[in-house]
Amino acid sequence: AVLRAQAAIDRHARLVADFPSPGISFKDLTPVLADAAGLDAVVGALAEHCAGADLIAGVDARGFLLGGAIARELGVGLVAVRKGGKLPPPVVGIDYELEYGSARLELPAEGIAFAGRSVAVVDDVLATGGTLLAAARLLRQMEARVHGLAVVMELAELDGRGTLSAGLGTDVPVWG
Ligand code: AMP
Repeated sequence: AVLRAQAAIDRHARLVADFPSPGISFKDLTPVLADAAGLDAVVGALAEHCAGADLIAGVDARGFLLGGAIARELGVGLVAVRKGGKLPPPVVGIDYELEYGSARLELPAEGIAFAGRSVAVVDDVLATGGTLLAAARLLRQMEARVHGLAVVMELAELDGRGTLSAGLGTDVPVWG
């Protein structure tokens, strides 16, 4: 499934120069997911990595698309890690720094049993790693165990993996 996913990414992913700001090369995976075989391959590969988790956390917003499909494939539950201000109270949140400015992620503080659960966190692209680090820290704050972090594509030059292992410890696998 991983090789098939790589072929689908090579074939369908689009690189958009200078989006959302000058100097950024945006990796647009929308056409990969719009292709039936591409979606199947990508979801299959990520699901292999996430196997063993008992909850999938999809990161706002493209992680939602992948997370839902992966959770269904594995027969486990799903939670959305939302950007600040989207969820009804009570919420738990974490503020973190982006390259420019800051951001916030939130989870429901009630209604979901996080404690002791093994949670795999899913997003489309690993860039600096700041977003996945914040999502994982928030889950740990809720006493969940972070099973691993899974992405479709990583920008190796930004060393998101280094940021994640420094922030979470080397025992949290990063799949991408
Ligand atoms: P980061 O926190 O820097 O790892 O950024 C991760 C988040 O921003 C992910 O949710 C990505 O969807 C998005 N992102 C960052 N850089 C890019 C890029 N060059 N192309 C596509 N998405 C990106």
